[in-house]
Amino acid sequence: MATVIESEIVQGLRNGEFILYYQPKASLVTNRIVGAEALARWRRPDALEVPPGVFIPLAERSSLIRQLTLQLLDRLLEDVAGNGLGQGLSVSLNVSARDLEDATLTRTILHALAHRRLATTVLELEITETQALQGGERMLSNVQALAEAGIGLAMDDYGIGYSTMDTLSQWPFTTIKLDQGIVGRMLNSPKNATIVRSSIRLGHELGLSVVAEGVESPEQHDFLVESGCRVAQGYLISRPLPFNEFDVFRHNIGKCHGMPIGLVYMAI
Ligand code: C2E
Ligand code: MG
Ligand code: MG
Ligand code: MG
Repeated sequence: MATVIESEIVQGLRNGEFILYYQPKASLVTNRIVGAEALARWRRPDALEVPPGVFIPLAERSSLIRQLTLQLLDRLLEDVAGNGLGQGLSVSLNVSARDLEDATLTRTILHALAHRRLATTVLELEITETQALQGGERMLSNVQALAEAGIGLAMDDYGIGYSTMDTLSQWPFTTIKLDQGIVGRMLNSPKNATIVRSSIRLGHELGLSVVAEGVESPEQHDFLVESGCRVAQGYLISRPLPFNEFDVFRHNIGKCHGMPIGLVYMAI
């Protein structure tokens, strides 16, 4: 893969090359789409595919992530407001520690939601535990302000951090997202199955939503249903989609209520 340099990100920000794809989240109780995770994509003029796993860490090492997150937030709210997505669906945006080191993002979010007449509950922020632990007190107080305003907070990649219990008790999380690696391994051994089952129970007993990420097979889907998990995200339901395709997808799937989700997707 070609090396990406900071100046290319600067250029990309200036030219609006960063866009969002939306990966549906499905209720395992109703089989309906209950939301989406917004994932950054870089639409470069040279068509080179540079994944977020490459450009996000690079942007995090400079201050460019802050500008990128603000641009993506704006795109997300435009998509949500322009399409009545706010009604009943919640959309999550991934954020990094640097985004929350001061109150800029917090203020921008609250202002932008009010300006677009959107309820704060349409937005959820996803943050990994590693990012949360980098942030310190300032970050926690910014996150608390967002939580008090009704914005959801998801702990991303749950299960691969190291002091999860402490972070879970100190931070105002409303959701945990079971890491896709853990979900991918849960059917390989009774130990992994137990870890997933107890994580789901722990989340629910703490009053949190639990979302399983990286759900790829009907067997994983069934195991999650049996384990009481209520929301799933992964290729079985859908890959991340451009906004227009996501919008078509969520409407079509709504009509196929009751059918196994993966089959519905393949039938469209
Ligand atoms: P994440 O937030 O944990 O996002 C989930 C990743 O898993 C996404 O990769 C998604 O495409 C992929 N995925 C979803 N379902 C499946 C599945 O069934 N199987 C497999 N194997 N993979 C699946 P993506 O889009 O490449 O994003 C990678 C990471 O980059 C994200 O992990 C997130 O940490 C970061 N990222 C993406 N967009 C943003 C953003 O806008 N801001 C920030 N700060 N980070 C972002
Ligand atoms: Mg995420
Ligand atoms: Mg994740
Ligand atoms: Mg991840």
